[in-house]
Amino acid sequence: MLDNLTSRLADVVKSLRGQARLTEANIQDAMREVRMALLEADVALPVVKVFINDVKQRALGQDVLGSLTPGQAVIGVVHDELKKLMGEQNDALNLAAVPPAIVLMAGLQGAGKTTTTGKLAKLLKETQKKKVLVVSADVYRPAAIEQLKMLASQIGVEWFPSLPSQTPKDIAASALDHAKRHFFDVLIVDTAGRLAIDQEMMDEIKALHAFLNPIETLFVVDAMQGQDAVNTAQAFNAALPLTGVILTKLDGDSRGGAALSVRHVTGKPIKFIGVGEKVTGLEPFHPDRLASRILGMGDVLSLIEEVQKSVDVEEAQKLAKKMKTGKGFDLEDFKTQIQQMKKMGGMTALLDKMPGQLSQLAQGQDTDKAVARIEGIINSMTPAERAKPEILKASRKRRIAAGAGVSVQEVNRLLNQFEQTQKMMKQFSGKGMMKLMRGMKN
Ligand code: GDP
Repeated sequence: MLDNLTSRLADVVKSLRGQARLTEANIQDAMREVRMALLEADVALPVVKVFINDVKQRALGQDVLGSLTPGQAVIGVVHDELKKLMGEQNDALNLAAVPPAIVLMAGLQGAGKTTTTGKLAKLLKETQKKKVLVVSADVYRPAAIEQLKMLASQIGVEWFPSLPSQTPKDIAASALDHAKRHFFDVLIVDTAGRLAIDQEMMDEIKALHAFLNPIETLFVVDAMQGQDAVNTAQAFNAALPLTGVILTKLDGDSRGGAALSVRHVTGKPIKFIGVGEKVTGLEPFHPDRLASRILGMGDVLSLIEEVQKSVDVEEAQKLAKKMKTGKGFDLEDFKTQIQQMKKMGGMTALLDKMPGQLSQLAQGQDTDKAVARIEGIINSMTPAERAKPEILKASRKRRIAAGAGVSVQEVNRLLNQFEQTQKMMKQFSGKGMMKLMRGMKN
C-alpha cells in the first residue's frame, strides 16, 4: 500500500541531497514533487493544498545544523504533517456504554461492511474478551444475512436471526432486546448498503441510528475507491453523526490516498483498517506508523529525533568551523566527534550508516566498548601528541598502549583511522560533522 507514494517521496529527498540550506526555491521545487506524488496517490486536492502549505511553512527556515540535511529535514516535517493529517494516534473504539454497547455499521454496498462486522466481532471477542452479538438489518439482500451468519459461526460469535420480511427497525429492536436479556457486552448492527448514495438508504439508516442511539457509528469505506471514497465519506458524515471510519482493502493495490484524506475531510478518526479478506484482516489504525511506512524511513526518523535531542549544537558548530579550513582537526577533536556520535544513541545503527572509515571503527565490536577504548587511547596521550599525532614514534606508542591497556597495533589502527578521517574531512568543503553525515543514506 502506498508504495508509489513512498518511492516518489524518496526521490524528493534525493533531489534535496547536497543542498546546504533549505531555501524558498528548493522547498518550492520539492513541494511541487510532493504535491504530484500525493495527487497520484489519490489524496483529495483540498487536502493536498493544506498539507503542502503547512509543510512549506514549517520547512522554510530550518537549516542544516539543527537537522542533519535538508532532505531529512523535509522528511521530518512531512512525517509530522502526515501524522497530523491522519490524526496523530490511534483512536480506540469507545464501548463505554450501559451494555450492550451498540456499534452501527454504515457504508455503501461492497465496501466491506459485513466482512468488517465479522472481523470486528472477532477482534473484540479475542482481544477484549467481549461477548458480542451480530445482526444484519440488510433486508434487501437475503444473501447478506446468510453471509453474516456464516461469518459468525466461523469466528464463534452469536448471530441474531433476521428476515427480509421484517423492517430494519424491528430487527434492531429484537436484537437489542435479546442482547440485553442475555447480557451481551456489544451488539454490532450491519446495515443495508446501496451502490451509490441514495436518499432512501440515508433515511433508513438515520432512522435506525435514532432508534438505537449507538455509541459507535462507523463508516466503512473501500480505499480502492480513491476520490470517490472521500465523496461518500462526506455524504455519510453529513447525514449521520459518525464516530469513526473503517478503511477497507488497504491490502490491495489501492493507491491509499483515502487514508490521508478521510480524516481531514470528515474530521472523524480512522479507527481500523481492513487489510485482507480473511476474518483476521482488521487492524487498529496507527497514523504515526503509516506515516513512517509511507516515508519508508522509520530508522532515519528515529535518528533525526535522537540527534535533535542530544547533539550539542554549539560543540558541533565549533567542530564544523575547524573542519571548514581543513586544518587543525586533531585527535582531541576526533575524540569529541566520536563522543558526540555516541551521544546520539544507537551508535551501532549510526555507524552502519556512516561512510567509509568511521564505520569500520566499531565493526564487530561492542560499540560502547569501542568508544571507551578510543577514549582511553587518546586520553593516554599528551596534549602535544593529540595536537600533532605525527610525532608519535614507536616508544611513545608503546607508552600510550601500556597506559590505555591496549596493544600497539590498536594504537596504530586508531591513528590510521584518524588520518583517514582527517583526509575525508579535508575533502569536504565545510560543515564538518554534518557534512559527514550526509553520507548516511537519506
Ligand atoms: P458489504 O456489501 O459492504 O457488506 O461488503 P462485503 O463485506 O460483502 O465485502 C465486499 C467484498 O470485499 C468481499 O469480497 C470481501 O471479501 C472484500 N473485502 C472486505 N474487506 C476487505 C479487505 O480489507 N481487504 C480485501 N482484500 N477485501 C476485502
